[in-house]
Amino acid sequence: MRKNLHVKLVLILVLLIVSLMVVVGAFLMNSVTGYYINEFYSQMVDAFGQVDFVRDLQTATEDEDGGAAMAAVLSVYKGELGVDGRNRNYYVLSGTTGRYLEGSAPEPEGGVTITPNISSALLGEMGVESSVTADYMDAAVPITRGGQPYIVYILDNRETVRSLNGEMFGLILEALVLGLIISVLLSFLLAKTMVNPLQRLTNGIEEVARGDFSRKLEVTSSDEIGQLTESFNAMAQQLETNIAELERAEQMRKDFVANVSHELRTPLTNIKSYAETLAGGVGELPAEMEQRFLGVILNESDRMTHILQDLLTLSRFDSGRSELRLTRFPFAQAVDDTYQAILMDAQNHAHTVELKLPPDLPQVRADRERIMQVMMNIVSNAIKYTPDGGRIVLSAGRAGDRVWMEVDDNGIGIPAGDRGRIFERFYRVDKARSRQSGGTGLGLSIAQEIMHRHEGSLYLVDKEEPGLTIRMELPVQGPREEGGHEG
Ligand code: ADP
Repeated sequence: MRKNLHVKLVLILVLLIVSLMVVVGAFLMNSVTGYYINEFYSQMVDAFGQVDFVRDLQTATEDEDGGAAMAAVLSVYKGELGVDGRNRNYYVLSGTTGRYLEGSAPEPEGGVTITPNISSALLGEMGVESSVTADYMDAAVPITRGGQPYIVYILDNRETVRSLNGEMFGLILEALVLGLIISVLLSFLLAKTMVNPLQRLTNGIEEVARGDFSRKLEVTSSDEIGQLTESFNAMAQQLETNIAELERAEQMRKDFVANVSHELRTPLTNIKSYAETLAGGVGELPAEMEQRFLGVILNESDRMTHILQDLLTLSRFDSGRSELRLTRFPFAQAVDDTYQAILMDAQNHAHTVELKLPPDLPQVRADRERIMQVMMNIVSNAIKYTPDGGRIVLSAGRAGDRVWMEVDDNGIGIPAGDRGRIFERFYRVDKARSRQSGGTGLGLSIAQEIMHRHEGSLYLVDKEEPGLTIRMELPVQGPREEGGHEG
């Protein structure tokens, strides 16, 4: 690319210089010629306008050779006529035939050429016309002397202007060569400021095309190339983020599939082995053992149903098919209902449960069933992950246009390294313990999804060991972006 653009730059500059020089040269040379012609004729008009000069030409003496006498007069006025005897000469011609009589130069070979101006003079008119293109200029003035017609003829071969133009041409050529050298040097400079950034950009693009986003291109100017570089950097950055996101999503998808398979395989294996044992020993096993095996099979089937239900819920959220059924209900009532619902379970584990409800909690606009699902999930987690005889505190309140509920326990808590991940699908700190207590590892990710749908939030609150505090927050007016309909 560098070569092409560089060659183009040189070509453009060369063309520019050449055309400029040609135009300027032609104009200059033309105006020099024009000036010279004008100068010649104004000189002639001035000279022949002089009364003395014309009178001297016309006044004859007796027995004279008219032609020689006139030539003598003309010789005196040489200066006024600009006659130098080389490039410009005067001639005295016969007024009837135009034949050479006398002159500052000898008669040209083959006689004086009868030009249009001489023809005019032969007819008695002053001939002072010339074209720019002719290679001579002349003036022919009819003069009567001693009753005889003569023509005073001034002929200039334009050698002066030709040599002047020749010199000018040489000068223009020199300027042209100089201009060409400058243009080549300039093209290098231009190439440095234009081609190099483009080259860098090209290299950068090639790197991105190879999948390397690490290098940011330096923006060295604020012109179009600079803007292009900036846009390119922004694009590469965006691309990098998008690809990283895609890779993350792809990884999550793979993990998810692996997790689902794993989660379903465990209960299925259990069901299969118990069912096989039962089938193999029909009538041989003690009745209460059969009963126990059937119980396990039922339990495991329930677990599978549970997992599948959770997966279905998540899938509905993911595809946006699950709408919120928004209603207005007292938030305090929902918290109290949750408290009542888990009380029995908590007592079975010898937990003490405390409920701290301020009296003035507002009504909220939300999907009551789903909000209850979130509350139940976090309170039952507190019961599950707190060793028997623990203490659980449910508190609620209002902060600005949001209401909140916190569940605090003094259970096993979550190690710092896992805290960031417990809202991920299937993530469990202690898989065996969770499974034992019927957990799927999906509860909190569903809960968080529900809270996001409500434009609320669900997060862990920092606290001193032991145990865990988890907090949900909900906007009182419900989600602004309608994720559902009023029910
Ligand atoms: P699970 O069905 O396993 O309870 P969740 O999504 O509800 O799944 O919770 C994810 C994980 O977070 C649990 O497996 C557990 O390790 C941890 N966890 C949740 N709540 C608590 C808590 N109150 N105390 C300690 N660990 C908890």
